[in-house]
Amino acid sequence: MCGIIGYLGDREATPILMESLKRLEYRGYDSAGVAVLADGAGADRRTSVTKSETKVDVLIEKLQANMPTGKLGIGHTRWATHGKPTYVNAHPHTDCHQRIYVVHNGIIENFAELKSELEAKGHEFTSDTDTEVVPHLIEANYKGDFLAAVRAALKRLRGAYAMAMFSTDDPELLVGARLNAPLVVGLGEKEYYVASDITAIIPYTKRVLVLGEGEVAAVTPLGPQVYTLDGHTVKPKLIHVDWDVTQAQKGGYPHFMLKEINESSEAVANAMRGRLTDDGAVSFREFDVPDEDLKKYREVLLLGMGTSLHAAMIGEQVIEDWAGIPARAEDASEFRYRRPTFGKHTLGVVITQSGETADTLVGLHQAKERGALTVAITNVVASSAARDADGAIYLNAGPEIGVASTKTFLAHLMSLYLLGLRLATVNGRVSLERRDEIVKALRALPGQVDELLARNKEIAELAHRYSKYRNFMYTGRGLGYPVGLEGALKLKEISYIHAEGTTGGELKHGPIALLDDQFPVVAICTASSTKDKMVSNVHEIVARNAPVLALITEGDKSLDGVATDVFEMPEVEEAAAAILNSVMLQLFAYHVAVELGQNVDQPRNLAKSVTVE
Ligand code: GLU
Repeated sequence: MCGIIGYLGDREATPILMESLKRLEYRGYDSAGVAVLADGAGADRRTSVTKSETKVDVLIEKLQANMPTGKLGIGHTRWATHGKPTYVNAHPHTDCHQRIYVVHNGIIENFAELKSELEAKGHEFTSDTDTEVVPHLIEANYKGDFLAAVRAALKRLRGAYAMAMFSTDDPELLVGARLNAPLVVGLGEKEYYVASDITAIIPYTKRVLVLGEGEVAAVTPLGPQVYTLDGHTVKPKLIHVDWDVTQAQKGGYPHFMLKEINESSEAVANAMRGRLTDDGAVSFREFDVPDEDLKKYREVLLLGMGTSLHAAMIGEQVIEDWAGIPARAEDASEFRYRRPTFGKHTLGVVITQSGETADTLVGLHQAKERGALTVAITNVVASSAARDADGAIYLNAGPEIGVASTKTFLAHLMSLYLLGLRLATVNGRVSLERRDEIVKALRALPGQVDELLARNKEIAELAHRYSKYRNFMYTGRGLGYPVGLEGALKLKEISYIHAEGTTGGELKHGPIALLDDQFPVVAICTASSTKDKMVSNVHEIVARNAPVLALITEGDKSLDGVATDVFEMPEVEEAAAAILNSVMLQLFAYHVAVELGQNVDQPRNLAKSVTVE
């Protein structure tokens, strides 16, 4: 999610940390900081911490004005998940005695229970972050061996982390660790780096060790040693990276969009992280409404624009189905000029990646004025939507550079599903068995997304064949309809091909007139209660000679010999299928646009965040 860098060597650490953070900044983080251990012994060996509650540039100005010296240091660019982007919440974080310094990327799921436990033992916390439990936990385990204390502390953590850390007692030891978040160790000439992102270290070295899950790297002037949490030595994987800075920023992918689609499984997992227990209970830290209160809301109004509107349309159906309460999704730009019907029993859900979408914010304010309970589902902590709503559900998807939303759409869907599950539970509308099924389906998603991403070539091949057409129709029923609308939007946004979406039922009421052998249809026909109806619709389409690319559930033979192409998807819950089908359609749109030579990351006429009406 964020960027981390650690340095140990025979050069001054600060300029290297500064340059590295600058190279990571392209993603647009919310705050930054560094800690540098001064050379010297005893009382002289102090750590200098510099932080900025905004951009890396501000941090760099501060460092230039007052340059800390020392050959061991760590740096961080933050994408807040727990606690606002403030000076105090910026990393590095430290223990009670300012001896241990930690920068962290990810989410510590069980931080609340660890924090209470540590507070009971007398530890004092200064920030709202989940990260701060780490230095305190290391401190609590410290008996003179920093590495042993780190391992003992890490064993207690659940969630996702990439970390770099050091202790003032060990001026020649830089420690890196990872679980569910990437971390590499760069090998230079008598100097070493720990980084979350190869971008940070690319000008310094091409030799990189990739840490495995749950591994810890202890870096000393003699080089890195890699261990498991139990202290067993591991032989790490050494790779040679021959990227320039731009390639490294894109993680070796040709475009940010492709990189971000490939981050989908992580985005889906992070949206779930710490919010869903095994028995299906859902809790949102920043939207912590007691069951008794939440039960009072008798309707859900979901507002969004563009991709967020499509997420709202999927949320509408899932909430109605699982929680049994009326839900409706509205285009925020239209809704604001209609008679606002929010009431005291309305739960207003505003969906916006940036948290700054102008039309959606107006809807939010109207809802608040009329006494509705409001919640913003957004990727940006402390954004306008998050600040103005009564509560926030953060996507925790990390920065998205591609203008056309991809991973954040999937994180929005997952967040809406969790909200649906929570509403279903407080309203007593879902049996334990059904809840179990849903939880299993959601938990299986990150792995299934990865399996789908591995079929990238197959999708590229389809896109290659379909890229010759100038018009596309997307059609589906139920969740397949908004999934189709989003598939069409993705295609038009980045390839400038005309694409539109319709329900399978609506097709015959007009849109079918457009179809001929030059007007292909992407039909979403995966398992659902209306799948057979979709199959009939595909027959109607084929009768008009239109080529059909159908998404079907594996093993389903109903469209054999009917559709021009079928793409098999795994058999999953309908809500899970909406996520998987969307990933497939994002990849399809991506490859069509690449085939046509378009600028997929920065499509013409579009902006990432629409802050005007
Ligand atoms: N969860 C940590 C925080 O909110 C780290 C976020 C990040 O990955 O930047 O401070």
